[in-house]
Amino acid sequence: MTEFDVVYRCYGAAKEVTGSCHLLECGGKRVLVDCGLFQGGHEQEKANYASFGFDPAAIDVVLLTHAHLDHCGRIPKLVKEGFRGRIFATAATRDLARIVMLDAAGLQEEDARRAQRSGRRRGESPAMPLYTLDDALHAMDFFAEPVSYDSDVALVEGIQARFLDAGHILGSASILLTLNTGDRTCRIHFSGDIGSPGRPILRRPESAPEADYVVMETTYGDRPHRALPDSIEELYRAVTETLGRGGNVIIPTFALERAQEILYYLQQGTQQGMLPPHAQVFMDSPMAISATEIFRRHTECFDRDFQAKLRQGDPFTMPHLHFCRETADSMAINHIESGAIILAGSGMCTGGRVLHHLKHNLWRERSSVVFVGYAANGSLARRIVDGAKSVRIYGDDVQVNAQVWTINGFSAHADQGALLNWLGNSPRKRVLLVHGEYDRGIRAMEECLSKVGIACHAPERDEAIVLN
Ligand code: ZN
Repeated sequence: MTEFDVVYRCYGAAKEVTGSCHLLECGGKRVLVDCGLFQGGHEQEKANYASFGFDPAAIDVVLLTHAHLDHCGRIPKLVKEGFRGRIFATAATRDLARIVMLDAAGLQEEDARRAQRSGRRRGESPAMPLYTLDDALHAMDFFAEPVSYDSDVALVEGIQARFLDAGHILGSASILLTLNTGDRTCRIHFSGDIGSPGRPILRRPESAPEADYVVMETTYGDRPHRALPDSIEELYRAVTETLGRGGNVIIPTFALERAQEILYYLQQGTQQGMLPPHAQVFMDSPMAISATEIFRRHTECFDRDFQAKLRQGDPFTMPHLHFCRETADSMAINHIESGAIILAGSGMCTGGRVLHHLKHNLWRERSSVVFVGYAANGSLARRIVDGAKSVRIYGDDVQVNAQVWTINGFSAHADQGALLNWLGNSPRKRVLLVHGEYDRGIRAMEECLSKVGIACHAPERDEAIVLN
């Protein structure tokens, strides 16, 4: 390696889906793309407490593709451990990352307090949170002026970035880096997470530009998604049938993007007469409510159709919609026996207010639970999806008598065809495949790309790759 080599290392999302963290070094400068949290289970999450594998104080710049926790969730730790550079992101990403990092810090403080109480009883040294609310707030001080899509930003001497709309969640971007080293130029394109084209609200992902190297996500590189209109129709059927027989509909939802999309589909369904007009809709998640506020503020991120709809009125409201921030409002829903559509987190039912609603409705034959997102192995959502007859919630065994719907077409990720379309066929020296499980998305994409003669490689964590 010489000082003019561009060296890439993956420090998270190497042959796995979470913990996105990519380091580029060139001419003594260091650029980090994303700094996300490892998620999934106890084993994966232990990696969040380990060393980054590099010195945070030596990083000049962080580029954030979008505000999902597995892309921004270790930024407060990075700052806590010495990072003093600048963080570049779009305005919507910065605003969403703020609530995502604060929420994560709150949960970590709570977990640490719980662990401290039980640890004290066993005489162990006190458990510490990965970072605190103060750390998350401090991290916000390092965000630079927001970046606009499609304009060049000078990061440090010799390195430029351009953010392109990734159509994945509000504010999301893929990022083209141009590095001038000695007498040559090297262009590296980071996909971030690529959205699924054809959804309402957001623009479709901008195609990958010409570049020497592409670092590409492969989450759903092995499969097609179900068509969105079929999924919306199934959602309407689930709601209409359930309310028709006198039950409630529980929709466990991720607070960012999915909650706003489902709310919009419910609004459209009501307006078009596809849903009962008097259904009471509850958005029972303080974080989803805050995220909805941020959506209202960032109309620059919407596609043309949705901007036109905005001019006719607020697309995130309807006659019988209730936003429940306070715990008391959430608990009041428990007394409703029929006619309610309840959106609550967490999406995988691993915690949060949705657990109370499941406890009050799962045992009732008239009610329904409608899953509209990913359910990881080991989560309560997955056990219900897989047909458990009874599940344990807050120490009680609850019979699963409610109807269970699993609707798969709402994904915010491109499927195999959409990923290949996004990449296109302009010549590249190599495509680096990340953010996927090896036996699923990565291997399938390796096969697709090698068929058309595109060189690719799935990096290991910490493997040094020289990009020349
Ligand atoms: Zn994402």
